[in-house]
Amino acid sequence: MNAHFKLRPYQQEAVEATLRHFRQSDEPAVIVLPTGAGKSLVIAELARLARRKILVLTHVKELVEQNHAKYESYGLAGGIFSAGLKRKENRHQVTFASVQSVAANLDQFRDEYSLVIIDECHRVSGEDTSQYQRIIELLRQQNDALKVLGLTATPYRLAMGWIYRYHYRGFVRSEDDKPFVHCIYELPLSYMINRGYLTKPELVNAAVAQYDFSALAQDRFGEYAEKDVNQLLSKHKRVTRAIIEQVMELAAERQGVMIFAATVDHAREITSYLPEQQTALVTGATDLKDRDLLIQRFKQRQLKYLVNVSVLTTGFDAPHVDFIAILRPTQSVSLYQQIVGRGLRLDDGKQDCLVIDYAGNSVNLHHPEVGEPKPSPDSEPVQVFCPGCGFANIFWGKTDSDGRVIEHYGRRCRGLLEPAEEEGTAGQRPEQCDYRFRFKECPHCGGENDIAARNCLQCHQAIIDPDDQLRDALKLKNAMVIRCAGITLGVAGSKLKITYHGEDGEELSESFDFSKSAQRTVFNKLFGRRFANSQAPKEFSKAEEVLELQALLSAPDFVIARKQKYYWQVQERMFDYQGSYRKAY
Ligand SMILES: [Zn+2]
Ligand SMILES: [Zn+2]
Repeated sequence: MNAHFKLRPYQQEAVEATLRHFRQSDEPAVIVLPTGAGKSLVIAELARLARRKILVLTHVKELVEQNHAKYESYGLAGGIFSAGLKRKENRHQVTFASVQSVAANLDQFRDEYSLVIIDECHRVSGEDTSQYQRIIELLRQQNDALKVLGLTATPYRLAMGWIYRYHYRGFVRSEDDKPFVHCIYELPLSYMINRGYLTKPELVNAAVAQYDFSALAQDRFGEYAEKDVNQLLSKHKRVTRAIIEQVMELAAERQGVMIFAATVDHAREITSYLPEQQTALVTGATDLKDRDLLIQRFKQRQLKYLVNVSVLTTGFDAPHVDFIAILRPTQSVSLYQQIVGRGLRLDDGKQDCLVIDYAGNSVNLHHPEVGEPKPSPDSEPVQVFCPGCGFANIFWGKTDSDGRVIEHYGRRCRGLLEPAEEEGTAGQRPEQCDYRFRFKECPHCGGENDIAARNCLQCHQAIIDPDDQLRDALKLKNAMVIRCAGITLGVAGSKLKITYHGEDGEELSESFDFSKSAQRTVFNKLFGRRFANSQAPKEFSKAEEVLELQALLSAPDFVIARKQKYYWQVQERMFDYQGSYRKAY
């Protein structure tokens, strides 16, 4: 055996986590390693350890080639099955294949495989008809204990959400089914940089000019329509020219420059401002042969500038790149990391990699992925402890100047609770903590449900849609609906008076008598439970106590009242409203 590669400690850990997981489970698992962490070495080691046939799949031939080369560098022989590489070998114990080629030749994969490794596995969709799923399905028919392992740097995609459900550090990423069940190992980018495994990014903010994409409408994944982006950029040709002039100026001291454009039109415009002899443009429409040639010339430093539109984020490896210019918007921390990651490979004489964001993304490279589109430009990831189980959730939110969380967008705690050690619980899956930070109370049973729920989780009865409720109330003559801008409190004896202030100056009020236990209970269910953004639910026993802590009381979004003979009686307080009336009312 010619195993001259020594695994780095984290690569060894990833390998061990895989062995440990598959010893006790056949459920598909994911390893998350940042770009440049050396995934191909982890794959090679797992392939080396495997006794039976295994298949290593990926979607681009460059990765098939890289992974194969790494494996053979151990002195072992593996097969390649890829039309793009003009090789169709499947007799080896280990086959490195492109997913397209295998899917097109399923009849040649009738052997029993013990393990499928999928590189860049964020491309696996949950659809049964996808190429990956069809291959897995077929191999499962030969071996129902088939193991499936994915590797990726980006386990979260804006359009797909998380690709797995459970994280080994004890939390849930998704309440829905996903192509992979477990994340069994993960390493943050900052670890790689701090340990010197990657080049330090030099993040520069002193950009001459910046685009402002924030006015554009986002789809539900936080992405913009190409048409809108083009329209905005066409009005800012001067900005683009000024940006490229700065890029060229700074590039004088740099070896290789990658420019990430927002659209194809934008990329063409950028290219037109750069020196023709030193520039390549690669888009999704670029002929594959041309693309290979351009990339080769760039790697050989015959070309200095490589302009691209989201095609060179994975499987592209040019270690000499030391300047990344980002001219495209993105809401995704992992996509941003992947873009920057193109410039972080170590290379001889390379000190750092200049990174300039001209698109105002204000993504912090070291922030964790929250897993939801950023709700507002000034949101940041915040840590919110669950009052139920103590788990430290990461949600989008806002902090004050002392770093205290003043607002967050979390809905349900993501902590995983181990089943209690009772008889008959052996082998049970840990369950997600049911504490909710935002919820709708079921009018039938009082159960707490997600704010988007249609039916109660506990009693299964329909929950009235808040929009219907508002619409109905607005139709009534004797009802009043206010959009609540804030509340003020007053205390008289044991009574607490809450006044709701509408955005147009209207007012509604109601009182809770704290000497009466029923009224105290209602107040605590409405306001005590949601105290401090539900981060610290509280049972208030006295009106004065509420007054003292009123700064942390949550206000409802809407209040509905009915006219009585002499006054308006509050009937409904709607918290955590997210429907369309917010804007359209
Ligand atoms: Zn919890
Ligand atoms: Zn219910």
